[in-house]
Amino acid sequence: MGHMVEFAPRPWDRPAPERAGRLSIYGMLPEDFTAMGAPGRAEHIFAMIQRPWEYRDGFPRLSREIREWLVANLDTALPEVAERHASEDGSTKLMLRLGDGECIEAVHMPREVRNPRVTLCVSSQVGCAMGCAFCATGTLGIRRNLSAGEIVGQVLAALRELGPERPHAITLVFMGMGEPLHNLEQVHRAIQILNHTRGLNISTRRITVSTSGLVPGIERLAHMEPRPWLAVSLNATTDEARSALMPVNRAWGLARLREALDAWSLGDRERLTIEYVLVAGQNDTMEDAERLAEWMGELRRGHNVNLIRLNEHEAASFREPDEAQVNAFVARLKALNCFVTVRKSRGRDIQGACGQLVKKSKGPSKRIENC
Ligand code: SAH
Ligand code: SF4
Repeated sequence: MGHMVEFAPRPWDRPAPERAGRLSIYGMLPEDFTAMGAPGRAEHIFAMIQRPWEYRDGFPRLSREIREWLVANLDTALPEVAERHASEDGSTKLMLRLGDGECIEAVHMPREVRNPRVTLCVSSQVGCAMGCAFCATGTLGIRRNLSAGEIVGQVLAALRELGPERPHAITLVFMGMGEPLHNLEQVHRAIQILNHTRGLNISTRRITVSTSGLVPGIERLAHMEPRPWLAVSLNATTDEARSALMPVNRAWGLARLREALDAWSLGDRERLTIEYVLVAGQNDTMEDAERLAEWMGELRRGHNVNLIRLNEHEAASFREPDEAQVNAFVARLKALNCFVTVRKSRGRDIQGACGQLVKKSKGPSKRIENC
C-alpha cells in the first residue's frame, strides 16, 4: 500500500504516432477490439491492458502484428502524474495531466494501516458546469468531459503511482472534479471496464457515483447495468437555501429529487448515501437537522447521511461550522433515527476539496490552460 505497482514494460508504451482524435486504449471493452478488427483474441488484449502488473515476465503471446495494430490505432498513453501532494494523514492528491494538457485531480486514501484497502476519489470532468457556490471545482466552470479511457487511465495511473498492490482492494468514488451524471455515457462505460472480470474487476458495491441531484441522470442510471451505488449531495433542506447553494435545485427541487430516489430500487444490501456539506450559517441549524430527517422519511432506515465539514478555500467566503455545532447537528439527526457518519476530513493540508489544487496552480483565473 502506498507504493508503486510495477507495470511491466508494455508493448504499447511506445508513444502513438499521433494522439489527437485517437481513442484511448484504456477505454476499450473486449468487444470494441473485435469490432475494430483487431487481430488476435480480444479478451486477452483487454486483460493485458487492464492488468499490466500481471505480465511482469513480458507479454509472450502478444504478437508483433497486434502490437503494431494497437500502437497504430489507439492512444496508448496513461495520464501523466504532474504533481503529487502527500498529506500528513496518509492520503495523497495527484494532479494528472491529460493528452491535451488539461488537468484533473484524483485523491488516494488508504484505510487504516492493517487494512490494505484504498479509496480512490476520481474525476469525471475537467471542471464542472453545476456552479455550486461552495465548491472550488464549480468556480472553474466546465472545460470538458473526460472520456471513459481517461477515467480508467486515471485509476491505472493512480494505481501505478501509489498502489494498492492488490488492485481489487480498491473502492472507487466519483467525488473528484465534475458532475458524473453530466457525463453519464462515458462514466458508465468506464464503470463497465473497471467492473469487467478480465479487468480490475471492481465490484459495483465498491463504486459510488456522487451527484449534485441531476434527476434525469439519476433516472437513467437507475436502469443501467452494471449499476454503481449512488450518493446524492443534498447540502440544504429548503428549496430556497438549496437553490442558493446549488443552482441545480432550481430545475429539480427537493420534492422531485426525493421522488427520483424513491424510484431507485435498491439491490441486496445496497444503500443510498445522502451527502451533506455543513456550511456555517447556511445549513447547520437544528431546524435544518429536523428538516433533513423529515425529508429523508423512509430513507432514514438503513441509509446513510454523510456529513462533511466544509473545506474552506479561497474561491468562496463560506466558513465551516465549529465542532460544537457539528456535534449538535449529528446528535439531533441521531435522535431522529438517522444513520449518520461524519466524513473524516482528509487532506486538508493538501487542498483536499476537489478542484482546489488545479485552481491554486492557476491563481484566481477562471480558466486552466495548462497545469
Ligand atoms: N459533482 C458531484 C461529485 C463531486 S463533488 C457532487 O456534487 O456530488 C463531491 C462532494 O464534495 C459533494 O458532496 C460536494 O457537495 C462536496 N464538496 C464540494 N465542495 C466542497 C468543499 N469545499 N468542502 C467540502 N465538501 C465539498
Ligand atoms: Fe460540480 Fe459537485 Fe462541485 Fe457542485 S459540488 S460544482 S456538482 S463538483
